[in-house]
Amino acid sequence: MIKLCVAGTVAYDSIETPFGKADNVLGGSALHFTNAASFFTDVGIVATVGSDFDLEGISFLKDRSVDLSGIEVDQGKTFRWEGRYGYDLNQAITLKTELNVIETFKPKVPEDYRNAEFLFLANIDPELQLHVIDQVAKPAALVLDTMNFWIENKLDALMKVIERVDMLVINEAELREITKEHNLLKGARKLIETGPTCVVAKRGEYGVFMMNRDEVFLAPAFPLEDVFDPTGAGDTFAGGFMGYLANVGEATAESVKQAIIMGTVMASFNVEDFSINRIKRLTMPEIKERYHALKGCMQFTDIRL
Ligand code: AMP
Repeated sequence: MIKLCVAGTVAYDSIETPFGKADNVLGGSALHFTNAASFFTDVGIVATVGSDFDLEGISFLKDRSVDLSGIEVDQGKTFRWEGRYGYDLNQAITLKTELNVIETFKPKVPEDYRNAEFLFLANIDPELQLHVIDQVAKPAALVLDTMNFWIENKLDALMKVIERVDMLVINEAELREITKEHNLLKGARKLIETGPTCVVAKRGEYGVFMMNRDEVFLAPAFPLEDVFDPTGAGDTFAGGFMGYLANVGEATAESVKQAIIMGTVMASFNVEDFSINRIKRLTMPEIKERYHALKGCMQFTDIRL
């Protein structure tokens, strides 16, 4: 039985950053997520790809206890995203979104994933996210991500998904766009009033803001001199976050804070190379070393008053 189930996109991306260019490389919310989460737990992916997709390119995930049987191969082309970043690497500019096989996708959650204790609805059409929720028995933690494309095109369906989830892990810009509040405290509180108990807002190089019903928690990003390509950083954060929660087996306020740190560590690796490449060659000793380096950046002794 699968512990962590993710539904989202498996894509071919074309990306341009101030430091280089990559065409038709592996990407997608579910793929970046799984690449990271698979360091901590077994993962099952629900996604679709077109007949042009080379499944061999992701077969390495099987060695990391990932079940790929939930990836449906449909007639047509794989989902494609083209994006560009300027020197503000926190801001992706979408040049083109080709939904392709996503447009007619009817997600079928494999029997083995239906009792997954942890379910992550990665960025994909909110109507498909609703289909997935309906097929999974109530998980211990049901967590949602989305992006401006769906906020602008499918807001009603998205609001229905938000009512049903326990947590949101979204970009700060998306939190502002959904809630029409500039202030993160006010925006997060607005969302919490609609159902979820916790909102985690990703703030790129400025770290993470979390609010639940009782408290606020802030975590910095890991300071890196060379950020090469931020694509997938958010999904990789979510993969580290959910993978950690599934590994410890609970989503208490304390484990959520620890999971935010693990997500931060994983995202810091993702931005060091294009596509899924850095996380593909990552090792557990490197993860542990960076965790200690990040913790070191957050230590201080009490001020003297
Ligand atoms: P992020 O973690 O936000 O940088 O996510 C980047 C990934 O999201 C890319 O690999 C894209 O393939 C994927 N993506 C881009 N637009 C969408 C969309 N509208 N729906 C789902 N996935 C998308």
